[in-house]
Amino acid sequence: MQEVSALVRSILKKYNIKGGTFDQHFLIDTCYLDRIVAAAELSPQDTVLEIGAGIGNLTERLARRAKKVIAVELDPSLISVLHDRFDAVGNIEIIAGDALKVDFPVFDKVVSNLPYSISSEITFKLLRHKFKLGILMYQYEFAARMVSPPGCKDYSRLTVGTYYFADASILMKVPKGAFQPAPEVDSAVVKLIPRPAPFEVRNEAFFLEFVAAVFSQRRKKLRNSILNTNYLLKIPDVKEVVSQLPEDFMSKRAENLTPEELAGIANMIFDLKSG
Ligand code: SAM
Repeated sequence: MQEVSALVRSILKKYNIKGGTFDQHFLIDTCYLDRIVAAAELSPQDTVLEIGAGIGNLTERLARRAKKVIAVELDPSLISVLHDRFDAVGNIEIIAGDALKVDFPVFDKVVSNLPYSISSEITFKLLRHKFKLGILMYQYEFAARMVSPPGCKDYSRLTVGTYYFADASILMKVPKGAFQPAPEVDSAVVKLIPRPAPFEVRNEAFFLEFVAAVFSQRRKKLRNSILNTNYLLKIPDVKEVVSQLPEDFMSKRAENLTPEELAGIANMIFDLKSG
């Protein structure tokens, strides 16, 4: 049964907050709020980053368990709510601004009900920082693409990019009714554990560009997808390079190659093009 936070309801009413803009869907179901906080396994040593703190429903729960919470919020009206609620609380710092643009301070864990329209950009911005654990809410379809096995319809550039930086798993599906206003889509909470890539990559920028290029033509054989996207990859003598790559891989589609295999091919191309 859904338990709705009376406090969250009263804050939305008091400040006349309707939500809807800036991806504002407030998590009002205390059961899911508590499960997210439990999944973060917080200790009094942890500094937690929260992206899109909204009215602070998750923020206050995180602050009860962590050393410090750094709450980033874009919407000026919600920033006022956060200041009203938390200026007297010693371990909550509010950063007003766009999470894609602000510099993140050092943090141990990131726990957020993310604004879905910036899911990809904010995830890869986060993954370029050093942290121990992420507990992040996404649109369900996005989460499914982050964790898909090769060969499945959700296996994508996002899967390979995520796997390059972190182990990812879906912890729970969250229904629309857990939010106010309810979004049009279901959501899922993903656990991210950053780690070094489990395969060697000669040049990270080229590997990520290569993955993006070949998945933009995921139904084509790799040979054709490389030739067709060479305006992005800029491989000199591309036909010659492709002719030197293993036929086993060239006749497969990107969607049927593992991240390790894609990295192997990107490395071979990088070596050939670097002479
Ligand atoms: N944390 C609250 C919760 O769990 O109920 C709100 C989550 S709501 C899905 C997303 C929040 O992100 C909103 O408060 C919205 O204003 C904020 N937001 C949207 N775009 C943002 C951005 N680029 N940078 C920082 N915050 C953003």
